[in-house]
Amino acid sequence: MSENWSEEELRASVRAYVEMHRKESRGNAFTKKDYYEDLAKQFGRTVKSYEYRMQNISYVYSLQGRQWVSGLKPARNVGANVIQVLERLISEAEGQWLGASSEFGAIVEKLKKAPPKTPPPGSKKPSSSQTSVTQFARDPAVVAWVLAEAAGVCECCSNPAPFTREDGSPFLEVHHVLRLADGGEDTTNNAAALCPNCHRELHYGTEKRELAAKLRRKIPRLS
Ligand SMILES: [Zn+2]
Ligand SMILES: [Zn+2]
Repeated sequence: MSENWSEEELRASVRAYVEMHRKESRGNAFTKKDYYEDLAKQFGRTVKSYEYRMQNISYVYSLQGRQWVSGLKPARNVGANVIQVLERLISEAEGQWLGASSEFGAIVEKLKKAPPKTPPPGSKKPSSSQTSVTQFARDPAVVAWVLAEAAGVCECCSNPAPFTREDGSPFLEVHHVLRLADGGEDTTNNAAALCPNCHRELHYGTEKRELAAKLRRKIPRLS
């Protein structure tokens, strides 16, 4: 498929996809073809070409381990540069979840000391907002190398990956021992393949420093 789609056109396609995805997960009815026809009217390609583009977006969802819009089987023949653009547009269209921000965490900590006595109402329709987060460009080659080196075994606890992905590969996550945000390098000397438990513990556990030190001793390339 030709890749000379304008950012505007990709953005409109991603918006349509995100909206369909949202409707489907909320159980609301929609007709995919209506979306393609709208896009065709706006940008002048065939309905079929938008359907195909949607399948590329499904592919990005599948890479992120997410459920794609049913009927839009992931189509993977899309360039790495387009994947990157689609990822950015997806998070732009969905807004960023604020739950991870440190400000949010500080508020939760404060509330935990005097929790509400009755269940708070929360929000039936949580709003999303665009935030800009510092994103570091990670080298996929580093990830691929580290995963190959680990060969399906967590480099921290030495247990096999807890499950396999749909494509049959073992599920391990690549972690930067010194965070990129703290000046860590995106190199194999600063990256380890971990099972989700060890990964979470290295980020959030009370013993995370000891565990990181243990990891460095265990894997010569890290020190
Ligand atoms: Zn582990
Ligand atoms: Zn990590």
